[in-house]
Amino acid sequence: MSRVYNFSAGPAVLPKEVLREAAEEMLDYQGTGMSVMEMSHRSKAYKGIIEEAEADLRDLMGIPDDYEVLFLQGGASQQFAMIPMNLMKNRTADYIVTGQWAKKASEEAKKYGKVNIVASSEDKTFSYIPDCSDLPVSEDADYVYICENNTIYGTKFRELPDTKGKILVADVSSCFLSEPVDVARYGVIYGGVQKNIGPAGTVIVIIRKDLITEDVLPGTPTMLKYKTHADAGSLYNTPPAYGIYICGKVFKWLKKQGGLQAMKEKNEKKAKLLYDFLDQSRMFKGTVEVKDRSLMNVPFVTGDEELDARFVKEAKEAGLENLKGHRTVGGMRASIYNAMPVEGVEALVAFMKKFEEENL
Ligand SMILES: *Cc1c(COP(=O)(O)O)cnc(C)c1O
Repeated sequence: MSRVYNFSAGPAVLPKEVLREAAEEMLDYQGTGMSVMEMSHRSKAYKGIIEEAEADLRDLMGIPDDYEVLFLQGGASQQFAMIPMNLMKNRTADYIVTGQWAKKASEEAKKYGKVNIVASSEDKTFSYIPDCSDLPVSEDADYVYICENNTIYGTKFRELPDTKGKILVADVSSCFLSEPVDVARYGVIYGGVQKNIGPAGTVIVIIRKDLITEDVLPGTPTMLKYKTHADAGSLYNTPPAYGIYICGKVFKWLKKQGGLQAMKEKNEKKAKLLYDFLDQSRMFKGTVEVKDRSLMNVPFVTGDEELDARFVKEAKEAGLENLKGHRTVGGMRASIYNAMPVEGVEALVAFMKKFEEENL
C-alpha cells in the first residue's frame, strides 16, 4: 500500500491513524457484530458515538453551554439558505464578500430579504481581506455574514469584523479546528466537514441557543429549521451516521495531538515552510496579500500557464497530488489541512525547488 501526499481542497486528506482505526472496526464495531454503516441510528452503540463526538468537539473548541451543536446534511451550501430562513427576522442581512462561497451565500440570501454587501474584495479578484474595522452595518441587519477562510483564494480573516453588536455568522468550512476560536464571539459557526474534519456528507453547525426559535420565515421546511434538529439532538431523521463517526475519531485524534493550540502551531509551521519558499522563489509566487494569507489553502503561480500545467503533472508523478488551482484562479493550490503531515509540505517544497532549478 502506498499513500500519496494529497493536497486536495476537499474532500481532503484525513489522518492515517483514523482511517486505519475505521478499517479495523469496519466489519465489527466494538463487538456489535456489524459496521457503523449498518447499525440503527437509534441504537445504544450509535447513541454513544454521536454523544461522544459532540462532547469531544465541545471540549476541543471550548463551546459554551448556551450553544447547540448540530450534525446536519446538505453541505455547507444548504446553510446558505438555512441561515436566512432561520435568522432573517427583519429580512435584512449584511454580507462581507471575500470569495465565491461568500458571494454564493449572499446571492442565496437575496431570495429571502434585503442583502447589503458591506465590504468586498472582488475588485482585486478576492486577493485580500477588506478592512472591517468600521463597516456600514445596517441598523436593522439580522446578522453579519463572513466566510472566514476563503478556500479558493487562500485568504483568511486574521481578525473578526466589528459587527457593531450584530450577530456574526461564519462559514468556517476550510479552517474548522485549525486553531483555537472564541465561540462566544459568534452567533453561528458552521462548516462542511469534508475540508478539515471528515468525509463529505456532514455539516456541523454551532449556534447560540437563543437563535434557535419557531419564528422562522413562512414556508421554511421542517428539515431546514434549526429547531427541528436541536430538539431531537441531531436525530430528527437519520443523520449522516458514518460521517459523524469518522468526525468523532478525528476529534479524538486532535485531542491526542494536543488540541487546537497545538494544531495552530503545527499549521503555522507548515504554512511558513511553503510561504518562505514562495517569498524567495524566482519562479513561483503567492497570489494573495501577505497579511491575509490562509494557513490552510496556499495558491501560487509561475505566471506561465504551460509551466503551471507541467508542474502539476510532474508533481503528480512524484506523489504530490491535487495541486491544480481552482478553475477560476488557475495556477496551483496546495491545501495543507490538519491531517497533512509536515513531511508532505517538506516534500512539496523540495519538489518546487528542484522544478525551479531545472526549468529556470
Ligand atoms: C467547500 C466549501 C463550501 C461548499 O461546501 P459544500 O459542502 O460542497 O456545499 C462552502 N464554503 C466553503 C468555505 C467551502 O470551502
